[in-house]
Amino acid sequence: MAEENPILQKRGERFTESEDHQDWTSECAHYGTPASEIKNFTTECLGFGGYMVFNPYPILVCDSCVEKNQKLLSKATQDQWNKFILDNFEGPPADALKPDKVPVLV
Ligand SMILES: [Zn+2]
Repeated sequence: MAEENPILQKRGERFTESEDHQDWTSECAHYGTPASEIKNFTTECLGFGGYMVFNPYPILVCDSCVEKNQKLLSKATQDQWNKFILDNFEGPPADALKPDKVPVLV
């Protein structure tokens, strides 16, 4: 699939240039903006039990890219994600939480 998508292919090449996972979070995984120039970001990883999967995770995604990704999701997917957050994570009362502002891991 990545071979068919030049953005994914370039992203994969960036991640394979180094085996140091800290290098993978040195820039936004989507557009390559250096982490030092990003005010707010999310880090993402993939885990199984007590183990983290390395390659291509962990990654860093800037808030701008998170917001762009959020807008690509259908209303049904956003509603399902919001319900998951409200049902599974403690925090402020559900009516005080703005679930649309909770980023989705993509
Ligand atoms: Zn970004």
